[in-house]
Amino acid sequence: MHEWALAESIVMAAVEEATKEKLKTITQVTVCIGELQQIEKEIFLFALNELRKSQKPPIKKDAFVLRTEKSTLTCHTCGNTWKFTEMKKKLNITDSESIHFIPEVVFVHTRCPRCGSPDFEITKGRGVILSSIKGVR
Ligand SMILES: [Zn+2]
Repeated sequence: MHEWALAESIVMAAVEEATKEKLKTITQVTVCIGELQQIEKEIFLFALNELRKSQKPPIKKDAFVLRTEKSTLTCHTCGNTWKFTEMKKKLNITDSESIHFIPEVVFVHTRCPRCGSPDFEITKGRGVILSSIKGVR
């Protein structure tokens, strides 16, 4: 149930940011979720909405906006970068399947499209980030 831990860190970050900005109410919290982050979005959203209730400054109901960030991979051998979506097309993975797509599997089945090296890493689009907050002063 890492969704709860992730939700907690997002709520904490939003509250900290709002306090810094001297906001009285938080009206919108935009969260970027990496394409390769394994997360149950419904549980995550539920957790956010539960955790927001006892916060100061208060976070408005339905304030959370979830966005998906496209994943980028970078080859360690030749420095090539490419998008996970391009790779997905090649591997014939549909979007619904990719929801349960495990990042580790990406490493096993793929090679750099330019030099064929298996030595690469996910440089973008992994993890959950607080993207922005909006509020009333
Ligand atoms: Zn390469």
